[in-house]
Amino acid sequence: MNLLDHPPATWGEILSDKGQAAYRGRQMAHWVYQRFITDPLKMSNIPAGIRDLVATGTLSLDHPELLSSAHSFDGTVKMAFRLLDGPVIEAVLIPRKGQWTLCLSTQAGCGIGCRFCRTASMGLSRNLTTSEILSQWLLASRLVETLPPGESRIDHIVFMGMGEPLANLEALIPAIRSLTHPDGAGLSPRRITVSTSGLVPRIDALGEANTGVRLAISLCAPDDALRREIMPVGRIYSIEEILSACRRFPLRNRDRITFEYVLLAGVNDSPAQARTLGRLLAPFRSKVNLIPFNPFPGSPYHRPTESSVAAFQEILAGFHITATVRKSMGPDVLAACGQLARDTQDHLALTGGSPT
Ligand code: SF4
Repeated sequence: MNLLDHPPATWGEILSDKGQAAYRGRQMAHWVYQRFITDPLKMSNIPAGIRDLVATGTLSLDHPELLSSAHSFDGTVKMAFRLLDGPVIEAVLIPRKGQWTLCLSTQAGCGIGCRFCRTASMGLSRNLTTSEILSQWLLASRLVETLPPGESRIDHIVFMGMGEPLANLEALIPAIRSLTHPDGAGLSPRRITVSTSGLVPRIDALGEANTGVRLAISLCAPDDALRREIMPVGRIYSIEEILSACRRFPLRNRDRITFEYVLLAGVNDSPAQARTLGRLLAPFRSKVNLIPFNPFPGSPYHRPTESSVAAFQEILAGFHITATVRKSMGPDVLAACGQLARDTQDHLALTGGSPT
């Protein structure tokens, strides 16, 4: 039994079932979630009985290993983790106003097949477990402690790494609960964003789970015909069905839904398309995140010019839509949006052949 698959609030009960004092659960959760320590031998106040349970495999705090970390000139850090059964996944630390934003993966690869995304070329290996999702946060938190002073802690999490988060809701929701529980990482749910390609029934399920996290929709096209072409998931759910699910999603005061729009030169970045998008989103409490395409080897698309991005943004502003242009972070280490892909050799090359 891997404790990381279970909410920290239940660790006391689990330990109690194994003949240990229930209050030890909270002590262990403190070591794991506040000190990022998973070796019971390093938990000074944990008794030998619990160490024995871990040594004999009755309980575990197993997690993937950090295989490598590639550091960009702009401070972004791309990390690769090897899962215990072999697949490699990635997460990205992004410096932001003295804190870190952590972009997490929820699947090894992805089966959604967005044509502008490098992860799509991997296909889907498998869903991550709750402990594998949380381990990325745990190991990233450890890494942050070793970096030079500056950004001090991870205070935002975005589920925008490898995989479609809502295709793995069963592991995602417990991970969110552990990240937000006071005995866990204690993060505010308002600082956690889940991004989806638009799996309508699962947008509803996320809303019903009442986690309080923010929702982002990767829209990327103003009409269904184009969306079907660049995002095959558009053949299953229409834009209108996705927007209806957004209307049903519980929003607190002043919360807005984020619509992500990867701008592909000559494909979805024309003024007419900006106007169609503006008309579509104007009735929503929303903001738009414009992401100029980040090229990767073999991609069929091109990055739009700065002037066409600015023109697109201005047209949306005319519809009273707040649209921000996402700065490309970590492009030199292929850590920018849409560039993640399992490739151990990439990592070894980027880190000069020496995994960290
Ligand atoms: S953009 Fe997201 S959902 Fe689409 S293929 Fe890439 S990882 Fe999957």
